[in-house]
This record gives sequence, C-alpha cells and structure tokens, in this order.
Amino acid sequence: MNAQPETTYKALINLIKENDPEADFSVIEKAYEFAKEAHKAQKRATGEPYIIHPLATAMTLAEMHLPVPIIAAGILHDVPEDTTRTIKDIEKEFGFEIGHLVEGITKLGKIKYRGMERYIENLRKMFLAMAEDVRVVVIKFADRLHNLETLDAIPPKKQYRVALESLEIFAPIANRLGMGEMRGRLEDASFKYVLPKEFEWTQNLVERSERQKHGYLEKIMDITRNDLTDASLTNFKVHGRAKHLYSTYRKLLRHDRNIARIYDLMAVRVVVPTLADCYAALGVIHGRWTPLKGRIKDYIAQPKPNGYRSLHTTVFCDDGEIVELQIRTYDMHEEAEYGIAAHWAYAENGKISKEKIEERIDWVSQLADIQKEFQDKKSYLHSLEELKIDIFRDRIFVFTPQGDVLDLPEDSTPVDFAYAIHTDIGNRCTASKVNDEIASLDRTLKSGDMVEIVTDKNRKGPNPDWLKFVKTRHAKSKIRQYARAGIASWIKGALPGIKK
Ligand code: MN
Repeated sequence: MNAQPETTYKALINLIKENDPEADFSVIEKAYEFAKEAHKAQKRATGEPYIIHPLATAMTLAEMHLPVPIIAAGILHDVPEDTTRTIKDIEKEFGFEIGHLVEGITKLGKIKYRGMERYIENLRKMFLAMAEDVRVVVIKFADRLHNLETLDAIPPKKQYRVALESLEIFAPIANRLGMGEMRGRLEDASFKYVLPKEFEWTQNLVERSERQKHGYLEKIMDITRNDLTDASLTNFKVHGRAKHLYSTYRKLLRHDRNIARIYDLMAVRVVVPTLADCYAALGVIHGRWTPLKGRIKDYIAQPKPNGYRSLHTTVFCDDGEIVELQIRTYDMHEEAEYGIAAHWAYAENGKISKEKIEERIDWVSQLADIQKEFQDKKSYLHSLEELKIDIFRDRIFVFTPQGDVLDLPEDSTPVDFAYAIHTDIGNRCTASKVNDEIASLDRTLKSGDMVEIVTDKNRKGPNPDWLKFVKTRHAKSKIRQYARAGIASWIKGALPGIKK
C-alpha cells in the first residue's frame, strides 16, 4: 500500500489543474525536484521515501484549493529542518514569499520542552506564527494531518503525545479559523490514539446507525430535489454528509451516550446559488415536512463566532424519522469547509485583503495577551485548565439590552456576562434578567439570550460562592482579586498597629 512518489506527484498536478488550469506548474515542478533531491537519502518511519510526506502535505493544501506558493511551500516544508539545504537556498531558488513561508514552518517545528511546558510553548509558537502569517499555520495543519495518518509507524508513547497535542491545540485553532473540514480530519485522526476504546465504540455505533438510515436518506434527498425543482430552484446540489467521528463522540457524551438523540448524525446538505435561494429552499422543505420546534437555526443572520454560515433545520419526515437539513450557498459552503483558507483560494495572487484576515484573527491578538500573563511561571500550571476552557470551548453570543453582542464561552452565567461588561458591574451585580425574566445568577446562558444585570451600588463586592459557577477566567480572577483585597483590608482593620 506504499505510495510511489511519481504517482502522488502526478495526482497533485492533476488536482491543481482541476482547480486552476492557469496555475504556474513550473514552480511546483521545481519545488518537487528540489525537495526530492534534498531528501533523497531519507526514509519515513513507514519505510517509504521521505518525499512522500511533503507531497501528501501539498496534496491536502491543493484539496483546499490553495494557490501555488502555499502548495510549493508545503512541498519544501521539511527541507531546512532535515537536509543540508538551508532557508537561504530556498529563498534564492524560489523567492522571498515561499522562503518566508518555509521559514515560518521550520520555526514552528522546533519545540524543545516536555509536558506542560511543551504545551505552553506550543501554544505560544502557534499564536506567534498566526499573528505573523496565518498561511504558515495552515501548512502546519496539512503537515500534521499526514503525520497523524501515518502514526502507526512510530512508538506508542510518541503516538499518544502527537495525537493529544493535535486534539488539544491544532484542532481547536483550525476550528477558530473556520476550517471545519481540517478540524474534523485532525480530530478524527487523533481520536483513535488518544481514546482508542471510545473511538472503537463510536465507530461501531455510527456504522450500525448509518447502515439503518442510508436507504432512507437517499429517499429524503430525492424528494428534496424534486420539491426544489418544482419550486423553480435551479443549479442546486443535494447531498448527504456524515458527521465526523470525534464530534459525534462529544455529542454522544452530552446526550447520555444515546445515539437516537443525535439528529444530525447523517444530515442532508442543500447547496444553492444565492442567499434568497437559501430561504426559499427552507420554505420548500418546511412545506413538505414539519420542523421540530426550536431546531431552526439561522446562522446566516447570526453567524457562529468562527464565521460559520448556514440555515439548519430538523424535520419530522415520513414514518416519524427525524432528519437535519443544512442549507447554504456555494460561497458559504467553501467557507464552512476551508474557513480562512477559502479567502486565499480565490484571491488575486493568493493574497487576501487585510480586513478579511484581521476580521478572522482579531482573537489571535487577544490570545497573545492572555499568553503574556502566563509567562509568570508560578501561575501558569494552575491556570492551564482555565486557559484551555476560555480559548477552546465553543462560544456563545449574548446581547445587552442595547443590542451589543458579547462573545462568551459556552455555559457562561449572568455573572460572567456582568464582568465581561465591566468589573464594577460584576462586583455590584445582585440579580439578572434573561429575556426579560428574572433569572438566577448561576443560570446557564444560551446564544441569542438578552441579558440585563441589576446592580446595587451599596453592595460591597462579589460573593466568593460565585467562583463555583462562573466560567470565564476573567470573572474568576476578578472575584479572587476582590477576595484577596478584602482579606488584606480586614487584616489591616483588625490589627491596626501592624505596619507592612
Ligand atoms: Mn513535515
């Protein structure tokens, strides 16, 4: 089953040709010859010629419809690290842009620490690389994906470490960059090594369920195609999509491990030319089947924090079967699959507008700030869990009565909301209203909630019990800070004679 370099190279050229017949193939060919020559004495742990790995990396980048310089950098990415040819050599042969990309990946590769320190170091490097040039991180994902797919060839202990790192660092960052497909592939490839028993359990469960539902779904898709045609919609595509394994697993954990409660295991995807078609299609579908209450989600009017846009609806089909349908335009589809990478694919010379990048990576600079706080060694081990929660969990959008939007981690409470607005509001909050109804301060907020905080100016400060339910690192640290200051002033008051 070992792949041959020439075969893989030809497949790569064909794929690029399919995406862009005008692409500059001479650069790709030159990169291939250069890398093949540089790596010629090396073999992968699988026993294959080394060049197979950079070619597989380039293949993944081409699948994302990325432009030639990024693909060429993918082919060259391990040259400076593993061979006698240097970044200078690459820059001389291929110019500044490709040289710069390869340099970025090389820097990312050198992580010297172990354990927790390695984790922090890794995060820091990813953030720095992203802030400088997000394309580097995208190449790194493709590199990592192939390493994960060939992990069987290395010792089990190392397998586990590489897979865990991918699951905890790479996949969440891919998600934040809107790269749904990459995130799913990284997670599924890691899942097997991080939680082998759970992986097998999920896989069996999903396979059985898919066998049962398959024929049924074909029928639903046929009916949908006919209905859309009858409604004069044209140039649409209707296809099935299987949910990625790891995200299915996480959902199973949230639903008592009961697969019958997961409605989007097999979803039907409807891709249409225009925005208006999306809503028209939704109407057509609801004309045929009854939607489940509360399951219509308009991520077009309110995109997810990572930019995801689509309409989702879950309907009762014939025989009481429940099916989720996802409706989107072709543009939204590209973006949902490839995220930030979708912008480069169609941009002139592979460059996207600065605004587009900034829109996506504004959170990167926020993370860089958090990172700086953790340079202080004493605090970072303790705060690691909180850091992970804040950065990587799914986010929700909630609204102030004035209509401002706040981006909070899932399961946040009115107290988190209050502190996110202002420390004083947090310190003095006594009650809250969610969607105009009195709600307890530990209530779990949901996306779309409108939250109002009632403050009491006579209130001395936060209740330390809030620490039991707040979710954001920010709220926790403010409450603790207040508690510490309170004790300090109490000591001073109790022992007035003592000088510091
Ligand atoms: Mn590599």
